[in-house]
Amino acid sequence: MPQQRTLIILGSGPAGLSAAIYAARAQLSPLVIRGRQPGGQLSTTTLVENYPGFANGIEGPQLMEAMEAQARWLGAEILDGEVTGVNLQTQPLAIQMHDETLYCQALIIASGASPRPLGLSNERELYGRGVSVCATCDGFFYRGQEVAVVGGGNSAVVEALFLTRFATRVHLIHRRNQLRAAPSLTTRALSNDKIVFHWEQTVDSLLGDRKTGLTGLRLRHLPSGHIEELNCAGLFVAIGHVPNTALFTGQLELDKEGFIVTTGKSTATNVPGVFAAGDVQEPLFRQAITAAASGCRAALEAERFLSGLS
Ligand code: NAP
Repeated sequence: MPQQRTLIILGSGPAGLSAAIYAARAQLSPLVIRGRQPGGQLSTTTLVENYPGFANGIEGPQLMEAMEAQARWLGAEILDGEVTGVNLQTQPLAIQMHDETLYCQALIIASGASPRPLGLSNERELYGRGVSVCATCDGFFYRGQEVAVVGGGNSAVVEALFLTRFATRVHLIHRRNQLRAAPSLTTRALSNDKIVFHWEQTVDSLLGDRKTGLTGLRLRHLPSGHIEELNCAGLFVAIGHVPNTALFTGQLELDKEGFIVTTGKSTATNVPGVFAAGDVQEPLFRQAITAAASGCRAALEAERFLSGLS
Protein backbone atom coordinates (compact mmCIF):
# COMPACT_ATOMS: atom_id res chain seq x y z
CA MET A 1 0.00 0.00 0.00
CA PRO A 2 1.74 3.26 -1.08
CA GLN A 3 2.28 5.82 1.64
CA GLN A 4 0.02 8.83 1.28
CA ARG A 5 0.95 11.88 3.36
CA THR A 6 -0.48 15.35 3.72
CA LEU A 7 2.85 17.16 3.71
CA ILE A 8 6.37 16.00 2.93
CA ILE A 9 9.42 18.15 3.63
CA LEU A 10 12.65 17.42 1.78
CA GLY A 11 15.70 18.35 3.83
CA SER A 12 16.61 18.63 7.50
CA GLY A 13 18.57 21.88 7.73
CA PRO A 14 17.17 25.01 9.46
CA ALA A 15 14.63 25.56 6.64
CA GLY A 16 13.28 22.00 6.62
CA LEU A 17 13.14 21.61 10.40
CA SER A 18 11.56 25.04 10.97
CA ALA A 19 8.93 24.10 8.37
CA ALA A 20 8.43 20.82 10.25
CA ILE A 21 8.00 22.62 13.59
CA TYR A 22 5.33 24.95 12.20
CA ALA A 23 3.60 22.22 10.18
CA ALA A 24 3.51 19.84 13.13
CA ARG A 25 1.91 22.52 15.32
CA ALA A 26 -0.66 23.03 12.54
CA GLN A 27 -1.57 19.31 12.80
CA LEU A 28 -0.31 18.53 9.30
CA SER A 29 1.67 15.46 10.47
CA PRO A 30 4.69 16.36 8.34
CA LEU A 31 7.16 13.75 7.19
CA VAL A 32 10.71 15.07 6.92
CA ILE A 33 13.06 13.20 4.60
CA ARG A 34 16.47 13.96 6.03
CA GLY A 35 18.47 13.83 2.81
CA ARG A 36 22.13 13.23 2.10
CA GLN A 37 23.40 15.64 4.77
CA PRO A 38 21.20 15.28 7.88
CA GLY A 39 21.07 18.65 9.64
CA GLY A 40 22.23 20.42 6.48
CA GLN A 41 25.33 22.58 6.23
CA LEU A 42 25.26 23.61 9.90
CA SER A 43 25.92 20.02 10.90
CA THR A 44 29.41 20.38 9.41
CA THR A 45 30.25 23.70 10.99
CA THR A 46 31.64 24.74 14.37
CA LEU A 47 30.54 27.60 16.59
CA VAL A 48 27.53 29.54 15.36
CA GLU A 49 27.68 32.96 16.97
CA ASN A 50 24.84 34.71 15.22
CA TYR A 51 21.79 32.50 15.74
CA PRO A 52 19.67 34.38 18.27
CA GLY A 53 18.99 32.88 21.67
CA PHE A 54 22.44 31.56 22.58
CA ALA A 55 24.40 33.95 24.78
CA ASN A 56 27.71 32.20 24.08
CA GLY A 57 26.93 30.87 20.61
CA ILE A 58 26.17 27.23 19.92
CA GLU A 59 27.94 24.48 17.98
CA GLY A 60 26.25 23.92 14.59
CA PRO A 61 25.57 20.17 15.10
CA GLN A 62 24.12 20.86 18.56
CA LEU A 63 21.77 23.49 17.13
CA MET A 64 20.55 21.08 14.46
CA GLU A 65 20.04 18.26 16.97
CA ALA A 66 17.93 20.61 19.08
CA MET A 67 15.85 21.67 16.07
CA GLU A 68 15.25 18.05 15.11
CA ALA A 69 14.32 17.10 18.67
CA GLN A 70 11.86 20.00 18.80
CA ALA A 71 10.27 18.95 15.49
CA ARG A 72 9.92 15.34 16.73
CA TRP A 73 8.53 16.52 20.08
CA LEU A 74 5.81 18.42 18.23
CA GLY A 75 4.91 15.35 16.18
CA ALA A 76 6.95 15.54 12.97
CA GLU A 77 8.13 12.21 11.63
CA ILE A 78 11.73 12.08 10.44
CA LEU A 79 12.81 9.57 7.85
CA ASP A 80 16.41 8.73 6.98
CA GLY A 81 17.06 8.49 3.29
CA GLU A 82 17.41 10.30 0.05
CA VAL A 83 14.91 11.20 -2.63
CA THR A 84 15.85 9.73 -6.00
CA GLY A 85 13.10 11.20 -8.17
CA VAL A 86 9.90 13.23 -8.10
CA ASN A 87 6.82 13.63 -10.24
CA LEU A 88 5.33 17.03 -9.57
CA GLN A 89 3.01 16.98 -12.59
CA THR A 90 0.42 14.83 -10.80
CA GLN A 91 -1.70 15.40 -7.69
CA PRO A 92 -0.96 13.78 -5.29
CA LEU A 93 2.70 14.61 -5.84
CA ALA A 94 4.96 11.56 -6.12
CA ILE A 95 8.27 11.28 -4.25
CA GLN A 96 10.53 8.39 -5.16
CA MET A 97 12.99 6.96 -2.61
CA HIS A 98 14.83 4.15 -4.37
CA ASP A 99 12.22 1.34 -4.49
CA GLU A 100 9.51 3.14 -2.58
CA THR A 101 7.13 5.86 -3.79
CA LEU A 102 5.54 8.25 -1.31
CA TYR A 103 2.61 10.49 -2.22
CA CYS A 104 1.67 13.85 -0.72
CA GLN A 105 -0.72 16.70 -1.24
CA ALA A 106 1.87 19.38 -0.53
CA LEU A 107 5.65 19.42 -0.66
CA ILE A 108 8.22 21.75 0.88
CA ILE A 109 11.62 21.55 -0.78
CA ALA A 110 14.42 22.51 1.60
CA SER A 111 17.20 20.52 0.00
CA GLY A 112 19.76 23.28 0.50
CA ALA A 113 23.00 23.70 -1.38
CA SER A 114 26.27 21.76 -1.69
CA PRO A 115 29.85 22.97 -1.71
CA ARG A 116 30.98 24.28 -5.10
CA PRO A 117 33.97 22.34 -6.47
CA LEU A 118 37.01 24.08 -7.98
CA GLY A 119 36.51 22.06 -11.15
CA LEU A 120 40.12 20.80 -11.39
CA SER A 121 40.85 17.56 -13.22
CA ASN A 122 42.00 15.40 -10.27
CA GLU A 123 39.91 17.14 -7.58
CA ARG A 124 37.36 14.35 -7.35
CA GLU A 125 39.96 11.59 -6.98
CA LEU A 126 41.69 13.54 -4.20
CA TYR A 127 38.52 14.03 -2.14
CA GLY A 128 39.19 12.33 1.17
CA ARG A 129 42.87 12.12 0.23
CA GLY A 130 43.85 15.65 1.11
CA VAL A 131 41.02 17.61 -0.50
CA SER A 132 38.08 18.38 1.77
CA VAL A 133 35.07 20.68 1.99
CA CYS A 134 34.71 20.41 5.76
CA ALA A 135 37.34 21.51 8.27
CA THR A 136 35.15 20.41 11.17
CA CYS A 137 35.05 16.90 9.77
CA ASP A 138 38.64 16.56 8.59
CA GLY A 139 40.74 19.25 10.29
CA PHE A 140 41.92 16.90 13.03
CA PHE A 141 43.76 14.73 10.47
CA TYR A 142 46.14 17.61 9.70
CA ARG A 143 47.58 18.03 13.17
CA GLY A 144 51.15 19.34 12.87
CA GLN A 145 50.94 19.82 9.08
CA GLU A 146 50.49 22.71 6.65
CA VAL A 147 47.11 23.12 5.00
CA ALA A 148 45.45 25.55 2.61
CA VAL A 149 41.97 27.00 2.31
CA VAL A 150 40.64 28.49 -0.89
CA GLY A 151 37.96 31.22 -0.86
CA GLY A 152 37.46 34.65 0.64
CA GLY A 153 33.98 34.45 2.18
CA ASN A 154 32.78 33.70 5.70
CA SER A 155 33.11 29.96 5.17
CA ALA A 156 36.75 30.17 4.08
CA VAL A 157 37.71 32.37 7.01
CA VAL A 158 35.80 30.28 9.57
CA GLU A 159 37.50 27.17 8.19
CA ALA A 160 40.94 28.80 8.25
CA LEU A 161 40.51 29.97 11.85
CA PHE A 162 39.31 26.53 12.92
CA LEU A 163 42.25 24.83 11.19
CA THR A 164 44.77 26.93 13.14
CA ARG A 165 43.91 24.65 16.10
CA PHE A 166 45.59 21.73 14.34
CA ALA A 167 47.82 22.88 11.50
CA THR A 168 51.21 24.48 11.88
CA ARG A 169 50.30 26.97 9.14
CA VAL A 170 47.13 27.72 7.20
CA HIS A 171 47.49 29.24 3.72
CA LEU A 172 44.44 31.22 2.69
CA ILE A 173 44.21 31.53 -1.08
CA HIS A 174 41.85 34.16 -2.43
CA ARG A 175 41.33 35.38 -5.99
CA ARG A 176 40.97 39.04 -4.99
CA ASN A 177 42.96 41.31 -2.68
CA GLN A 178 40.11 41.77 -0.23
CA LEU A 179 38.06 39.26 1.73
CA ARG A 180 34.29 39.06 1.38
CA ALA A 181 33.99 37.74 4.95
CA ALA A 182 32.40 39.77 7.77
CA PRO A 183 34.69 42.42 9.35
CA SER A 184 34.82 40.63 12.72
CA LEU A 185 36.03 37.40 11.11
CA THR A 186 38.37 39.26 8.77
CA THR A 187 40.03 41.06 11.68
CA ARG A 188 40.48 37.80 13.56
CA ALA A 189 42.02 36.09 10.54
CA LEU A 190 44.33 38.98 9.65
CA SER A 191 45.70 39.09 13.18
CA ASN A 192 46.26 35.32 13.41
CA ASP A 193 49.98 34.54 13.01
CA LYS A 194 49.28 31.05 11.73
CA ILE A 195 47.33 32.27 8.69
CA VAL A 196 49.33 33.23 5.60
CA PHE A 197 47.39 35.11 2.90
CA HIS A 198 47.95 34.49 -0.80
CA TRP A 199 46.10 37.37 -2.45
CA GLU A 200 44.95 37.45 -6.07
CA GLN A 201 45.83 33.80 -6.53
CA THR A 202 43.87 30.79 -7.71
CA VAL A 203 44.59 27.09 -7.46
CA ASP A 204 45.78 26.14 -10.93
CA SER A 205 46.28 22.44 -10.24
CA LEU A 206 46.46 19.90 -7.44
CA LEU A 207 49.69 17.95 -6.97
CA GLY A 208 49.52 14.31 -5.99
CA ASP A 209 47.45 11.29 -6.92
CA ARG A 210 45.28 8.63 -5.30
CA LYS A 211 48.38 6.84 -4.00
CA THR A 212 50.29 9.78 -2.54
CA GLY A 213 47.28 11.90 -1.64
CA LEU A 214 47.55 15.66 -2.02
CA THR A 215 51.14 16.81 -1.76
CA GLY A 216 50.80 20.43 -2.79
CA LEU A 217 49.21 23.03 -5.02
CA ARG A 218 50.22 24.98 -8.06
CA LEU A 219 49.06 28.55 -7.53
CA ARG A 220 48.55 31.15 -10.23
CA HIS A 221 49.03 34.82 -9.38
CA LEU A 222 46.23 36.39 -11.43
CA PRO A 223 47.69 39.83 -12.26
CA SER A 224 51.07 38.46 -13.43
CA GLY A 225 50.23 34.87 -14.44
CA HIS A 226 53.20 33.74 -12.32
CA ILE A 227 52.95 30.12 -11.14
CA GLU A 228 54.37 28.92 -7.84
CA GLU A 229 54.18 25.65 -5.95
CA LEU A 230 52.99 25.39 -2.39
CA ASN A 231 53.57 22.25 -0.34
CA CYS A 232 50.64 21.29 1.81
CA ALA A 233 48.95 18.13 3.00
CA GLY A 234 45.38 19.38 2.92
CA LEU A 235 43.22 21.72 0.86
CA PHE A 236 39.86 22.92 2.12
CA VAL A 237 37.65 24.23 -0.66
CA ALA A 238 35.27 26.98 0.54
CA ILE A 239 34.19 28.84 -2.60
CA GLY A 240 30.45 28.91 -2.12
CA HIS A 241 27.64 26.53 -2.86
CA VAL A 242 25.44 25.27 -5.66
CA PRO A 243 21.73 24.56 -5.04
CA ASN A 244 20.62 20.93 -4.77
CA THR A 245 17.99 21.07 -7.48
CA ALA A 246 19.04 18.43 -10.02
CA LEU A 247 15.92 16.41 -9.15
CA PHE A 248 13.64 19.24 -10.17
CA THR A 249 15.09 20.12 -13.56
CA GLY A 250 12.26 20.18 -16.09
CA GLN A 251 9.61 20.01 -13.36
CA LEU A 252 9.99 23.32 -11.56
CA GLU A 253 11.05 26.73 -12.74
CA LEU A 254 14.75 27.21 -11.90
CA ASP A 255 16.86 30.32 -12.50
CA LYS A 256 20.06 30.26 -14.56
CA GLU A 257 22.13 29.31 -11.48
CA GLY A 258 19.76 26.43 -10.71
CA PHE A 259 17.94 28.01 -7.73
CA ILE A 260 14.20 27.31 -7.48
CA VAL A 261 12.22 30.38 -8.51
CA THR A 262 9.71 31.62 -5.93
CA THR A 263 7.67 34.77 -6.34
CA GLY A 264 8.19 37.85 -4.19
CA LYS A 265 7.91 37.12 -0.49
CA SER A 266 6.12 33.84 -1.18
CA THR A 267 7.78 30.43 -1.05
CA ALA A 268 5.37 29.12 -3.71
CA THR A 269 6.96 27.63 -6.81
CA ASN A 270 5.31 27.53 -10.24
CA VAL A 271 3.66 24.18 -9.31
CA PRO A 272 0.60 24.42 -7.02
CA GLY A 273 1.24 22.76 -3.66
CA VAL A 274 5.04 22.83 -4.03
CA PHE A 275 6.95 25.32 -1.89
CA ALA A 276 10.68 25.97 -1.58
CA ALA A 277 12.55 27.23 1.49
CA GLY A 278 16.12 28.05 2.47
CA ASP A 279 19.29 27.98 0.38
CA VAL A 280 17.65 26.04 -2.44
CA GLN A 281 15.74 29.18 -3.45
CA GLU A 282 17.78 31.97 -1.90
CA PRO A 283 21.20 32.89 -3.24
CA LEU A 284 21.56 36.21 -1.40
CA PHE A 285 21.45 35.91 2.41
CA ARG A 286 22.03 32.17 3.06
CA GLN A 287 21.99 32.42 6.84
CA ALA A 288 20.61 29.84 9.26
CA ILE A 289 18.09 32.38 10.48
CA THR A 290 16.92 33.42 7.00
CA ALA A 291 16.58 29.73 6.07
CA ALA A 292 14.59 29.08 9.26
CA ALA A 293 12.33 32.07 8.51
CA SER A 294 11.62 30.87 4.99
CA GLY A 295 10.88 27.37 6.35
CA CYS A 296 8.29 28.96 8.63
CA ARG A 297 6.76 30.86 5.69
CA ALA A 298 6.65 27.69 3.56
CA ALA A 299 4.81 25.79 6.31
CA LEU A 300 2.26 28.61 6.72
CA GLU A 301 1.74 28.75 2.95
CA ALA A 302 1.43 24.96 2.70
CA GLU A 303 -1.15 25.04 5.47
CA ARG A 304 -3.18 27.63 3.56
CA PHE A 305 -2.88 25.63 0.36
CA LEU A 306 -4.04 22.46 2.11
CA SER A 307 -7.05 24.17 3.61
CA GLY A 308 -8.02 25.40 0.15
CA LEU A 309 -7.40 29.02 1.05
CA SER A 310 -4.97 29.81 -1.75
P1 NAP B 1 30.45 33.15 -0.47
O1 NAP B 1 30.13 34.22 0.50
O2 NAP B 1 29.71 33.10 -1.77
O3 NAP B 1 32.01 33.24 -0.77
C1 NAP B 1 32.60 32.45 -1.74
C2 NAP B 1 34.05 32.85 -1.87
O4 NAP B 1 34.67 31.99 -2.81
C3 NAP B 1 34.21 34.28 -2.37
O5 NAP B 1 35.27 34.90 -1.68
C4 NAP B 1 34.53 34.09 -3.86
O6 NAP B 1 35.40 35.07 -4.35
C5 NAP B 1 35.25 32.76 -3.85
N1 NAP B 1 35.06 32.02 -5.09
C6 NAP B 1 33.88 31.71 -5.72
N2 NAP B 1 34.11 30.97 -6.83
C7 NAP B 1 35.44 30.78 -6.88
C8 NAP B 1 36.29 30.08 -7.77
N3 NAP B 1 35.80 29.40 -8.82
N4 NAP B 1 37.63 30.09 -7.53
C9 NAP B 1 38.13 30.76 -6.46
N5 NAP B 1 37.37 31.44 -5.58
C10 NAP B 1 36.05 31.45 -5.78
O7 NAP B 1 30.26 31.69 0.15
P2 NAP B 1 30.49 31.17 1.66
O8 NAP B 1 31.70 31.75 2.25
O9 NAP B 1 30.33 29.70 1.56
O10 NAP B 1 29.25 31.75 2.44
C11 NAP B 1 27.92 31.39 2.03
C12 NAP B 1 26.91 32.10 2.91
O11 NAP B 1 26.97 31.54 4.22
C13 NAP B 1 27.20 33.58 3.03
O12 NAP B 1 25.98 34.27 3.07
C14 NAP B 1 27.89 33.67 4.35
O13 NAP B 1 27.70 34.92 4.97
C15 NAP B 1 27.22 32.55 5.15
N6 NAP B 1 28.13 32.07 6.21
C16 NAP B 1 28.12 32.72 7.41
C17 NAP B 1 28.97 32.34 8.43
C18 NAP B 1 28.96 33.06 9.72
O14 NAP B 1 29.70 32.77 10.61
N7 NAP B 1 28.13 34.07 9.85
C19 NAP B 1 29.86 31.27 8.23
C20 NAP B 1 29.87 30.64 6.98
C21 NAP B 1 29.01 31.06 5.97
P3 NAP B 1 34.95 36.61 -4.51
O15 NAP B 1 34.97 37.18 -3.14
O16 NAP B 1 35.97 37.16 -5.41
O17 NAP B 1 33.58 36.55 -5.12
